[in-house]
Amino acid sequence: MSETTIPSHVPGTSIDEQAERLLGRRDESGPIGLIINQPAETGFRCPVHSADPTVDPLETLHWSEYNATLWCELCDRDYPSTLCCPDLATAMSVFFRTVDEAIARDREQR
Ligand SMILES: [Zn+2]
Repeated sequence: MSETTIPSHVPGTSIDEQAERLLGRRDESGPIGLIINQPAETGFRCPVHSADPTVDPLETLHWSEYNATLWCELCDRDYPSTLCCPDLATAMSVFFRTVDEAIARDREQR
């Protein structure tokens, strides 16, 4: 019998430079950044583990430290939220919102 090993991950320690450059870090300090629900509660699923009935997404899929991304602790990866959406209409909405926010963030930094 094999045992699943969950990689250790300390929140705030990810070094995904591409995600940080393009999307920025999630602001969790103020009321806007206050996280109430876990991603799985709103339908998000890890794109790798979504079909695995032994994986509980409420326990394994988390908000990443980067905007518009979710972190699966089993994969130890930050996935774009749009890849984790429950349906195509939601995925398209999330994608366009992500692009819109990235452009606005880029303009603020110039
Ligand atoms: Zn996963």
